[in-house]
Amino acid sequence: MEKKKVRHKLSCNNCSKPFNMHSFVIREARIVRDLDFSSTGAYCSDCFHEACKSIKEKRFVEEYKGEAIYMKDGRYAPYWGASYAFDNIDDCKKRMEMKGIAVTPFGMMDI
Ligand SMILES: [Zn+2]
Repeated sequence: MEKKKVRHKLSCNNCSKPFNMHSFVIREARIVRDLDFSSTGAYCSDCFHEACKSIKEKRFVEEYKGEAIYMKDGRYAPYWGASYAFDNIDDCKKRMEMKGIAVTPFGMMDI
């Protein structure tokens, strides 16, 4: 039977290693999420980190004040896994600066 290039739902997106539902429970298989939390597919534990790295590299825009800015579909996120994003990179940077200001300096909580 010719099933080439048809991705089976329960196999690694990269190396095609087959999974079953239990693979996810024991973390032999993991879903890689895109910047907007949509799934980019399931990967085996051998391929998972590489897949994460590659999607992050794909979304990476620039580094700002030591933090990476990511973008997908014109939405900029101040860090990977952010639950919010901005329509332009300047708003994103402003938010990142505010975050810096909001940090309580050490010593301020001393009694
Ligand atoms: Zn794999």
